Amino acid sequence: MELVDPLKQYFGFSSFRPGQEEIISTLLNQKDVLAILPTGNGKSLCYQLTGYLQEGLVLIVSPLLSLMEDQVGQLQKRGEKRVIAYNSLLSKSEKKYVLAHLFEYKFVFVSPEMLNQSELLYALKQQKIALYVIDEAHCVSQWGIDFRPEYQSLGRIGKELGSPTTLALTATATLPVQQEIENILFQTKPVVVKHSVNRENIALFVSQTEEKEQQLRQLMAQADGAMIIYCATKKEVERLYQLFRKDYAVGYYHGGLDASQRRQLQQQFSKNQLRFLFATNAFGMGIDKADIRYVVHYDLPDSLENYMQEIGRAGRDQRPSSAVLLYKPGDEGIHYFFQQLSKEQRQIFEEHLLAGQSDATHFDEIQQKWLTVVNEMQSPDVWLRELKKQEKVKIKQLQEMLAYIHETGCRRERLLSYFGETLKDKTKNCCDRDGALFIQSETRQTSPIAEAGDWQTILLNLF
Ligand code: ADP
Ligand code: MG
Repeated sequence: MELVDPLKQYFGFSSFRPGQEEIISTLLNQKDVLAILPTGNGKSLCYQLTGYLQEGLVLIVSPLLSLMEDQVGQLQKRGEKRVIAYNSLLSKSEKKYVLAHLFEYKFVFVSPEMLNQSELLYALKQQKIALYVIDEAHCVSQWGIDFRPEYQSLGRIGKELGSPTTLALTATATLPVQQEIENILFQTKPVVVKHSVNRENIALFVSQTEEKEQQLRQLMAQADGAMIIYCATKKEVERLYQLFRKDYAVGYYHGGLDASQRRQLQQQFSKNQLRFLFATNAFGMGIDKADIRYVVHYDLPDSLENYMQEIGRAGRDQRPSSAVLLYKPGDEGIHYFFQQLSKEQRQIFEEHLLAGQSDATHFDEIQQKWLTVVNEMQSPDVWLRELKKQEKVKIKQLQEMLAYIHETGCRRERLLSYFGETLKDKTKNCCDRDGALFIQSETRQTSPIAEAGDWQTILLNLF
């Protein structure tokens, strides 16, 4: 089937982005797909176009309310009326109405919690489901910050729904995570469509310095576009916000804000009313702002997976962008602290379970998540073993993060090799370690930029 015509007809685009056509044609042949494509590649279009070309509804599981709303909004903007987000924002009577009229919808977005509810499941079983989509599928993985225990039951729910053709989407691509997604969400091995995680338009920089604040100030002074500045803690986010609010249009975002504050912040940032956003890693998943030019890490993330996700928010419009990591020796201490904390949480959890005290009142938020897993999915022993394994993985991940920082060769090569790839073509604007970019004699002749001394000046003169 010629897919370019419907692409034009429904979306007005004249060509597919890498991977899209293969995914859609595989799904149309009723084969399951796990798609691992970089952020901004256009994963949503894969299920939308497939949905248009088939009878029946498309059920999309999405981890965040804001993400769901974005997606619904985008479909509506294109004139699609048969779309609904079935989530906790609906009133009881609205839910009832939707359930009674499910057949009228083409795209139904749900949170995994909602999908676990029997009324919705029952209503869905009465419908023809053309496609079952799990967005941000890396949330099944116990290794990531985005881990959602409710994601673990999505494979079983797929079965209950009569095993419709299934599409899992993610941008995170290490092999262990891929394996986990395959095991949990699919009954038989899916077709894996995986493209390079490399984002050529994002130049990579690390600056080891005792003067992070001063360097950040320089970066902000010369930046000519939107910037996210990631910090490890809420406290640091607020401190930097206070420090810079006199001079710039800045905002901050962390898990301590309520839903409406978060939405407002996102909107202000999207509309360029704020140019600089200080944030913890709570900010970003699913953010739909294409022209973020800079992602600065004031603190190092705990893994290259998270680093990749976070820098991936820059330059979704494919224009030159930069990822800058500011590192002061010893910064990693915060992660050792978190690792220790997490170990203690696990030990307390273990003690309570052994003492037969397994009601939620004994536990903090993360321990309650674990309890959900233990109660619904796994025996305590298996889960405790998983947690211990996870502690080891975290240590290794942090080592890899530090190795990236101390890399003396090409940073992009190291980053890609971590994700099991080899860098084939070096981009012109690669990384601060890669002398080829700036110091090449031909560049020097044609560009005054190469005369500049340190990489910061070089970086800032680039755009
Ligand atoms: P992802 O989920 O992979 O991060 P999205 O699905 O949010 O990416 O899409 C990012 C942007 O790319 C959207 O604005 C979408 O309209 C656009 N897009 C998707 N496919 C194409 C295409 N084939 N041609 C041009 N733009 C596209
Ligand atoms: Mg997406």
